[in-house]
Amino acid sequence: MPIFDYKCRSCSHQFEKMVRGSEIALCPSCNLSDLEKLLSVPGISTQKSRQHSFGIAQQAAKAVKKEQNHAQREYERNYIKDHS
Ligand SMILES: [Zn+2]
Repeated sequence: MPIFDYKCRSCSHQFEKMVRGSEIALCPSCNLSDLEKLLSVPGISTQKSRQHSFGIAQQAAKAVKKEQNHAQREYERNYIKDHS
């Protein structure tokens, strides 16, 4: 279902609304249908960049974990060497 951004021409209220079929969106603030459909959808781009930085954070966490595993193996190897 498409979500559109609207700006009310009578009270300048901006809002997002899911519009089904031929349903007419009404301004939730003044209840008029004198709306301007906005083409930019800022919600999607912010979500995308949020997912993007989340992906980077995950990769960084993975890299740290790899590093820790490596250090752990190195430690065990040295320990065995020293104690055998
Ligand atoms: Zn309005």
